[in-house]
Amino acid sequence: LSQSTDQSASALKIERDIPVSTWFHIGGSATQLARAQSIEQLIACLEIDQDFYILGEGANLLVDDDGVDSLVVSLQNDGFRDVSIDETTGVVRASAGVALPNLISRCVRAGLGGLEVLAGIPATVGGAVIMNAGGAFGSVADLIVEVTALDRAGRLHTFDRSQIDFDYRQSRLNHLIVTEAVLQLHPMDKELVKRSLNKCMSYKSDSQPLSDKSAGCVFKNPMLSESIPEVAQAGQRAGAGKLIDLTGCKGMAVHGAQVSQVHANFITTTKDAKASHVIELISQVENQVFDRFGVRLKRELVIWSDKHPMETSS
Ligand SMILES: Cc1cc2nc3c(=O)[nH]c(=O)nc-3n(C[C@H](O)[C@H](O)[C@H](O)COP(=O)(O)OP(=O)(O)OC[C@H]3O[C@@H](n4cnc5c(N)ncnc54)[C@H](O)[C@@H]3O)c2cc1C
Repeated sequence: LSQSTDQSASALKIERDIPVSTWFHIGGSATQLARAQSIEQLIACLEIDQDFYILGEGANLLVDDDGVDSLVVSLQNDGFRDVSIDETTGVVRASAGVALPNLISRCVRAGLGGLEVLAGIPATVGGAVIMNAGGAFGSVADLIVEVTALDRAGRLHTFDRSQIDFDYRQSRLNHLIVTEAVLQLHPMDKELVKRSLNKCMSYKSDSQPLSDKSAGCVFKNPMLSESIPEVAQAGQRAGAGKLIDLTGCKGMAVHGAQVSQVHANFITTTKDAKASHVIELISQVENQVFDRFGVRLKRELVIWSDKHPMETSS
């Protein structure tokens, strides 16, 4: 094996002071970054820093301007990009570093329906499972058969769907390192799957600022304890974007960070933006929504910062 494809623990390289790649295109660096190619290399990473951060596509992530001192481990490498697709049964097995859009295209070409409802969501398979990524047409949890993950003691576990407590935009697996997922899709007419893909993609591109730099929705849609007549009834989820829009926050900006004019739950950034601008804007939006509706928004966005002891996501 050449050095670049050697998947043994001893071949693990640690790079220093590497900017963490996120879809915001801003934020700080990782003092140490490893591109893990195998379970053995992930275990070697645990020996260096048991609490390392796991980086997928960085599509739901903001990194503090000062960067992070903990080890950051990326899974977007050849060692974590295996895919197997059974066109007859519809069973799809994908490693955690596989890019979700790429997997969707392969499944559509194979005439397998189900995953195309996640069209337009940038993610690795691991990140999509952790966040239970989804939208108007469904979420990852609807398709999961089993998930394999490494615990922080270096032990590998396989959980079947019934053992995973998926909920709206969460998997409750955040303490683990997802290494692989098995999905059950539905063999069907290729043209029908393509049509469904196009429908999901157009819905998304019509309603969200997909060409701007963002991390998708910043806030989870809150469950209302009291009805807000123009939004939703008590006991239902309200669109966070709708609440933000009604407070008049669309277009509000802190330097290069702005509440999107297209979808109020998106914050977009220019190249001059700092992570601190995004954080300040988030707090302004939270306060305005609370003042107007008495609703405390919770973040879907994950923020990595050494100023807080733990990865912060709500
Ligand atoms: C333009 C745009 C549109 C978006 N639209 C949607 C949408 O419609 N629906 C939706 O749900 N999301 C959406 N998002 C958000 C994002 O795509 C999802 O949250 C996605 O699941 C993030 O995956 P990732 O691989 O980028 O994870 P990252 O952002 O890299 O990481 C997110 C979290 O998951 C953890 N993580 C990542 N991989 C693993 C792993 N293998 N094991 C354990 N933990 C891991 C990270 O440590 C971090 O805590 C959008 C984002 C953008 C930029």
